Amino acid sequence: MTSKPAAAAARATVYGYPRQGPERELKKAIEGYWKGRVTADALQRTAAELRRQAWQQLTEAGVDEVPTGDFSFYDHVLDTSVMVGAIPDRHRSVVGHGKAVDADALDGYFAMARGTQEVAPLEMTKWFDTNYHYLVPELGPNTVFTADSTKQVAELREALALGHSARPVLVGPVTYLLLAKPAPGVAADFQPITLLDRLLPVYAEVLADLRAAGADWVQLDEPALVQDRTPADLNTVARAYRDLGGLADRPKLLVASYFDRLGEALPVLAKAPIEGLALDFTGPAAANLDALATVGGLRGKRLVAGVVDGRNIWINNLAASLTTLGTLLGLADQVDVAASCSLLHVPLDAARERDVDPQVARWLAFARQKTTEIVTLARGLTQGTDLIAAELAANRAGLESRAGSALTRDPAVRARSAAVTDADTRRPQAYPERAAAQRAALGLPLLPTTTIGSFPQTAELRNARADLRAGRIDTAGYEQRIEAEIREVLSFQEKAGIDVLVHGEPERNDMVQYFAEQLTGYFATRHGWVQSYGTRYVRPPVLAGDISRPEPMTVRWTGYAQAQTDRPVKGMLTGPVTMLAWSFVRDDQPLAETARQVALALRDEVADLEAAGTAVIQVDEPALRETLPLRTADRAAYLVWATEAFRLTTSGVRAETQIHTHMCYVEFGDILNALDDMDADVSSLEAARSHMEVAHQLARAGYPREVGPGVYDIHSPRIPGSDEVAALLRKGLGGIPAERLWVNPDCGLKTRGWPEVQASLENLVTAAREVRNTL
Ligand code: GLN
Ligand code: ZN
Repeated sequence: MTSKPAAAAARATVYGYPRQGPERELKKAIEGYWKGRVTADALQRTAAELRRQAWQQLTEAGVDEVPTGDFSFYDHVLDTSVMVGAIPDRHRSVVGHGKAVDADALDGYFAMARGTQEVAPLEMTKWFDTNYHYLVPELGPNTVFTADSTKQVAELREALALGHSARPVLVGPVTYLLLAKPAPGVAADFQPITLLDRLLPVYAEVLADLRAAGADWVQLDEPALVQDRTPADLNTVARAYRDLGGLADRPKLLVASYFDRLGEALPVLAKAPIEGLALDFTGPAAANLDALATVGGLRGKRLVAGVVDGRNIWINNLAASLTTLGTLLGLADQVDVAASCSLLHVPLDAARERDVDPQVARWLAFARQKTTEIVTLARGLTQGTDLIAAELAANRAGLESRAGSALTRDPAVRARSAAVTDADTRRPQAYPERAAAQRAALGLPLLPTTTIGSFPQTAELRNARADLRAGRIDTAGYEQRIEAEIREVLSFQEKAGIDVLVHGEPERNDMVQYFAEQLTGYFATRHGWVQSYGTRYVRPPVLAGDISRPEPMTVRWTGYAQAQTDRPVKGMLTGPVTMLAWSFVRDDQPLAETARQVALALRDEVADLEAAGTAVIQVDEPALRETLPLRTADRAAYLVWATEAFRLTTSGVRAETQIHTHMCYVEFGDILNALDDMDADVSSLEAARSHMEVAHQLARAGYPREVGPGVYDIHSPRIPGSDEVAALLRKGLGGIPAERLWVNPDCGLKTRGWPEVQASLENLVTAAREVRNTL
């Protein structure tokens, strides 16, 4: 295809870039600072050097406007709290423990992020539907905002001094307030958004400071506007941008949205007195294209078009993006090209993945490669596609190699998946029949006790894995260590009197990676780190092709464990939706299809476990709730395939084989129906901190199967007393009858220490026995 050059030159830009540096230098420097090995000065120098490198990379790649202020020592929402002076009193008092002034500022910041011996940190939660976590602002009716533009101004000056054309990026005021929660001690129904009028003058001051420091444009990120918003929220948006737009002394404003379509907020922002709007055109956000035409486009405004997926790692379809961009040319005065969101959510550089199969390597685009794609698209849009003919040809070849590869098209997997019928996704017997068969087969007491799967991952276990990798021990030596650990975990559980045992998952580095390493179609990266929170980075496995299971994955360890004891040992698998949620997933077919392939592989594992004598099999789906689409309109369709994939995994077993699932969140309200659709015999759910609320929610919904609402909060080292556990159980019995109530912790025990786990589980068993005796 060929297109005519656009009237105004399209600019290439990004909203944010990976922060950590190629060798995770930032993580090392910050953790060194925490340990006292790196001085505040040295940390600041490392940070400035990493910013310089990132901007240089962007500019050299041809980016016209680099972002500033997206860098962070921990989290950009926390940086925003500092910028507007929303620092909780308990953290203000941390500052000034007899240290140098600049260290005090850093220490106060890190105290908010991580807490100290004396004060709790801010709460952390997921940034929309990504795997990045931000620190939740704590606000109340007495919050006084004060502007502190130091960081924003300094980073802008840094970039300008290096000769870059730069655009500061801030979290927008509406999103900031919508992400906040009532501070401790403030009424739970307090709505932080009511503080808008107090917050806007602070933003006005920061904008003026940035203007004075040389900012032509400032970007205000408002991703909260892609979620369902009330008419009142939309009025707030209109008011916020009328006020900010009306300021006399300000830079031009670019309001950015991403992660989904703007929906009802689009006409509001299109009319607002701002100079630019950034829209996502990938995935479900592609609906922005028609919506934009419907509102008559953006007259007199700059449109920044997020056509390159900023959250996944595959090469863009450049020709398709050019078509989208061509359509957009008629809908705004100026069209610029960007990724759909900050590149924070992808790793830095695919070119460093030298171990990856070369055919797969061609399909990968991390932050650096995406930047090049953006620049190429901007050039194509401005100067015509002839000028980028070579890039387009290479891109087409990459896409064709992917589509035609045996890795992405395994005929056996496809045929099996296509043959799946509804009957394959249903257990042959209705629940009451299964329950009776399981009662007879398992012979468990009322209020049976169990755990969620993992036991403490000790230093010895991590060392054993490291020794194996380094060749200091061989496979046999490693397996002996794992077997010894399993025996110890089992003997503790038997002594403590737990009814359904687990092997403790000592062989698993991570609940997704462990399976990804054994499934065909998945591969691992060496440098594919992305920030999860603070200095914690994860390296998600890459689900690149059709999924199959060459060999059983867990039978060896579960079978070993079962051979050691007469009590039932639960088999333990990670469910299909969680496998997808915590991986980079192929984008060349619907997620539902990928989930079905993973489900079929897991279904075989379930069958092998059953054949090996496993009477209870748990399939964890902790991510089922967190992957819920941002827009409620999209949720029903998602839940249909997500619950179907779970049922496909678990429905091939006999009536007497008991299927468990486990999920952990504080809020189950959104997925009570889905829990029913999963049709697990037993569900263990997080509940300790919400005082068994889920038991009552399920009771009200008429949920018919067995549940284990957690009675031990494993997020804290605190040991719950047996009276406390018994009280929670009695509360649970207020909703769920004794025949259907299980006794278990909230989640796995992997992150806890042995002594507290032992004491807590002993108390849990004591409480179960005590309450049993009163029934
Ligand atoms: N079985 C897993 C464990 O016990 C479940 C972890 C999770 O829910 N995140 O660790
Ligand atoms: Zn859990």
